[in-house]
Amino acid sequence: MTNEKAFEKAKRYIPGGVNSPVRAFKSVGGTPIIIERGKNEFLYDIDGKKYIDFVLSWGPLIFGHCGKDLENALIKTAKKGLSFGAPTRLETELAKLILSHFDWLDKIRFCSSGTEATMSAIRLARAYSKKDGIIKFEGCYHGHSDSLLVKAGSGATTFGNASSLGVPEDFAKHTHLAVYNDIQSVKKCFESGEIGTVIIEPIAGNMGLVPADLTFLLNLRDLCTKNGAVLIFDEVMSGFRASEKGSHKFNQISSDMVTFGKVIGGGMSVAAFAGKAEIMDMLSPDGGVYQAGTLSGNPLAMAVGIATLSKIFKTNYLYEKLNKKANFITQALEKSAKAKGIPIQTTTRGSMWGFFFNENPVKNYDDALKSDTEMFAKFHAQMLKRGVYLAPSQFETCFVCTKHNKKSLEDTQDAIEKSFKAI
Ligand SMILES: *Cc1c(COP(=O)(O)O)cnc(C)c1O
Repeated sequence: MTNEKAFEKAKRYIPGGVNSPVRAFKSVGGTPIIIERGKNEFLYDIDGKKYIDFVLSWGPLIFGHCGKDLENALIKTAKKGLSFGAPTRLETELAKLILSHFDWLDKIRFCSSGTEATMSAIRLARAYSKKDGIIKFEGCYHGHSDSLLVKAGSGATTFGNASSLGVPEDFAKHTHLAVYNDIQSVKKCFESGEIGTVIIEPIAGNMGLVPADLTFLLNLRDLCTKNGAVLIFDEVMSGFRASEKGSHKFNQISSDMVTFGKVIGGGMSVAAFAGKAEIMDMLSPDGGVYQAGTLSGNPLAMAVGIATLSKIFKTNYLYEKLNKKANFITQALEKSAKAKGIPIQTTTRGSMWGFFFNENPVKNYDDALKSDTEMFAKFHAQMLKRGVYLAPSQFETCFVCTKHNKKSLEDTQDAIEKSFKAI
C-alpha cells in the first residue's frame, strides 16, 4: 500500500512520478516499487519487501549494493570536500585505469552521463571527419541528445524521423538510420556521401540484449575505414560489463572512439569518451571542439570509479564467473518456458543477460518488436510478486553481480518455475 501512496505523491510533483521514464513501469503495468535501500544482491522497498535485484541500477553495480570498499572510498574522499571544479589526481588515476585496458585509445575525457558522452563524441567525430552525417542503428540507444533520439521508421535507410516531440527535423536530418546486423543498409547510408561518423552499441542492450554478429562488425569497421568515417563503439552499458575490455573480448575490433558510463562510476554519475590522440586533441582547451561540465570528474564519482575498476582488475575470472550465473538464469528460463510451450530466446554476454518471448532469433530491432510484450508483462508481474526484480520492459537487459550466490540464484530459478506455471 505504501508504494502506491508514495508513487501517487511523487506524481503530484514530478512528471509521471519518475526522473527517467522506464522506471514508471508503463510497459508492464502496475506500480513501481519505491526503494528504501539495497544490500548486496537485494533491494528493499518502503513496505519492507525484499527483492533479488537483476537491474542493479541499470548496470553500474557489478559488485552489488553497499560494498564496504566502495563505501569507504566514497566516505574517505567526501571528507576532503565534495567538489572543487578544479583538477585532482583522482581523474588521472581513473583515466589511466580505463585506458590500460584499451591500448588503441590514447586519451579520455570524463563527463557525468552517457548522454553527454555520446553527444560529445559525435561532436568531436563530426569535427574530425568534417562531415555532418552520422549513421545510427534502429533500436540502439545512445542517450537523449537531439540528433541521437531518432528511431526506426519503416524505411530503414531513409532520413531519420525524430522519435521525440520537440526535436527539430533539422537536427534529425543528418542522422541516417541503418538496420542492426545488416551491412547492406549501412552501405546505402554511405551512398549519401555525407557520412563522417558511425555510432553503434557493439553489444546492443537497449532493444533487449542483441549482440552484433562478428562478420557484420568486421564489415562495418572496413566500411568506416574505407570511407574515412569515425567508428564509435558505445559501450556505456557493455564496458566492464561484458568483459574487462567490453565488446573487444568478443570481436577484437578497435573502434576509433569508445564511450563509457555505468560501471566506470560504480553507481555514481560518471561517463566518458575516449579515442585516438589525433581525435581527442581536437577537444577544448587544446582544440576547437567545445565540451565542458561543472561536475565533470567529480572527486566522489572518481573515487568510486577507481575503487570499482581496481576491484574488477583484482578479481580473477570475474566475467567468467558472472557469465556462469547469467547462464544459470537463462537456462532456467528456457527450461520453464519450454515446459509451458512458450517460445523464448535467450542470450548472455559476460554479466549481461536477456530474453525475448519470441519464436525466432532476434537480430535487429524489427525482430525484437515482434516479441510478445503481453507475455512479458505477465511474467514480470509474477516474478515481482515472488520477490525478483527484473527490468520492467521486454526491451531492456538484465544483469548479475558478484553477490548473486547459489541461494539467490536457486530462489530465482524457483520463482521462474512458479511464475510460468501461474501464467
Ligand atoms: C545508458 C546508456 C546511455 C545513456 O547513458 P545515461 O547516463 O543514461 O545518459 C547511452 N548509451 C548506452 C549504450 C547506454 O546503455
